[in-house]
Amino acid sequence: MGKAVALITGASRGIGKGIALELASHGYDIAGMATSLTSGIEDTKREVEARGQQFLTVVADVGALDQHERVADEVMATFGRIDVLVNNAGVAPKVRLDILETNDESFDRLVDINLRGPFFLTQRVANQMIKQTAAGAPYAPKIVFITSISSNVASTNRAEYCISKAGLSMAAQTYAVRLAEYGINVYEIRPGMTDTDMVAPAKKKYDDLIAKGLLLTSRWGTPQDIGKAVVAFCEGYFDYATGAVIEIGGGYGVERL
Ligand code: NAP
Repeated sequence: MGKAVALITGASRGIGKGIALELASHGYDIAGMATSLTSGIEDTKREVEARGQQFLTVVADVGALDQHERVADEVMATFGRIDVLVNNAGVAPKVRLDILETNDESFDRLVDINLRGPFFLTQRVANQMIKQTAAGAPYAPKIVFITSISSNVASTNRAEYCISKAGLSMAAQTYAVRLAEYGINVYEIRPGMTDTDMVAPAKKKYDDLIAKGLLLTSRWGTPQDIGKAVVAFCEGYFDYATGAVIEIGGGYGVERL
């Protein structure tokens, strides 16, 4: 049996890169998706290869459903298997607009990339995994959804983001239910404030909130923090916990009095 292969969307930077490097450090070959060939995805490739694993760059827009077949075909052509799917790619609104002022263009963009795309990519990859399961080889595929604390924390200046993530949380639950009979475990990770390009525009605001005690672990999250959690799921430490939802956010969600 060959090495396990992880398909990670949004592997060019930020959390997706962190996940790619952690999985590579644990022996996974990586198929990393990005929207274009940038120095970012080249860096991820080089760093994965430096860990002794293979890296395939897959250029695609996760929101474009007509590209999904090619994505799966490219991974299968190179590696012949998909063991892990990490639905990580996501976007924030281009401009944070109040819920009373935001527009359908921003809403549609967020839902297409953050929800509709990963929902249908998962459908395609899950069907591929089911075929591999039927082949009878030792095989324990996993699917991980990277959602957000915004799945259940309402922000009125980016409602479309919160709504897309809440929908993605339910996608994780429904796939966990449907895929259990095939032994395909599905997990959801909700990152908190994680130091990446996505939150750079709000860095000062969160720096101040963290300094004032917002988090129990008083620092920004890192892509590696999320990558470690993905490894724990993929390496079988949560095999009896399909459907599990875990917040990796420095204790943000702990209610206090
Ligand atoms: P990031 O640094 O902005 O990186 C986003 C990644 O997604 C990039 O690799 C980007 O590829 C890719 N991507 C964007 N649109 C895409 C599309 N249409 N098709 C394919 N790939 C696309 O963001 P991040 O902070 O790492 O976020 C990763 C995930 O974590 C997102 O789902 C985000 O919502 C979630 N999250 C982040 C935080 C946080 O604080 N950072 C908190 C909670 C949840 P290109 O380089 O090609 O653009």
